[in-house]
Amino acid sequence: MKLLVTGGAGYIGSVCAARLVESGHEVVVVDDLSTGHEDAVPDGVRFVRADVGEAAPALLAEGFDGVLHFAAKSLVGESMQDPGTYWTGNVVTSLRLLDAMREAGTPRLVFSSTAATYGEPERVPIVESAPTRPTNPYGATKLAIDHAITSYADAHGLAAVSLRYFNVAGAYSRFGERHTTETHLIPIVLQVASGTRRSLSIYGDDYPTPDGTCVRDYIHVLDLADAHLLALDHAAEGSHQIYNLGTGTGFSNRAVVQTCREVTGHPIPAEFAPRRAGDPAVLVASADAAAEHLGWKPERTDLHTIITDAWEFTCR
Ligand code: UDP
Repeated sequence: MKLLVTGGAGYIGSVCAARLVESGHEVVVVDDLSTGHEDAVPDGVRFVRADVGEAAPALLAEGFDGVLHFAAKSLVGESMQDPGTYWTGNVVTSLRLLDAMREAGTPRLVFSSTAATYGEPERVPIVESAPTRPTNPYGATKLAIDHAITSYADAHGLAAVSLRYFNVAGAYSRFGERHTTETHLIPIVLQVASGTRRSLSIYGDDYPTPDGTCVRDYIHVLDLADAHLLALDHAAEGSHQIYNLGTGTGFSNRAVVQTCREVTGHPIPAEFAPRRAGDPAVLVASADAAAEHLGWKPERTDLHTIITDAWEFTCR
């Protein structure tokens, strides 16, 4: 297939673009490099540096079989400080993309949605039919885009799949996580181990969890990429399918830090700090629907493996 990958210079987009090329697809990446890196664009890919909403009409007019839409603003804290950037950058851009797809007759869309669309869960593991009550503008914008996609699928026959990521980690070859502003736990802990960050705060030790720290469901970025390839194959005209991508197993923040110590051999001093606003105690996915309907089975579910791959990338 000829595929347009938005945000293909970012962490998840670059890994997916690499896997698409390896699977024989023709890939064009569009990315404005606002948070991505040009050297993360895989070999064998045509790269267009542009704003996705502005570039989409002319690009899609060339004729594409599908779009994988990763480009987004994705920092929860920043979205609370500056919601307008998120509503414009995520929702307005995505609507322009959807309209360009309709205009050009692009048949398929795979969209990067998020567990943040659910907000504080009533029950875990979280199933796709759970209430969607995002607790921050980031999650709200992703949910709004999901709603827009549903109506474009209903009205215009778009074949769409939204994938709701839980906590993505790990790396693949030269493609990994390197945000200028890093807020995610595993890269921050590994920065302490590599000496590029002095200290680590674990936010909250009084959550109603077995060890008092938050619990998250970590999914290896390569397993995540595989789900995108399956989603492309399973997208069906006029339908918007939504799947959670996680492993169904949660690891506490304390367990993550301890595993990072084992992997790196570094003592990684950590201190406890107050809770971070908006953090649910436990976020664990039910990935049964992705298994059943996409045939997706994550293979790198061991936390040690995920952190080892992230560490190799940090030390490269
Ligand atoms: N966290 C932490 N210290 C940090 C960064 C994150 O204790 O420096 C915690 C955060 O409060 C949450 C968990 O690690 O409980 C996962 O946070 P992350 O930002 O990696 O992902 P999120 O679950 O928010 O998407």
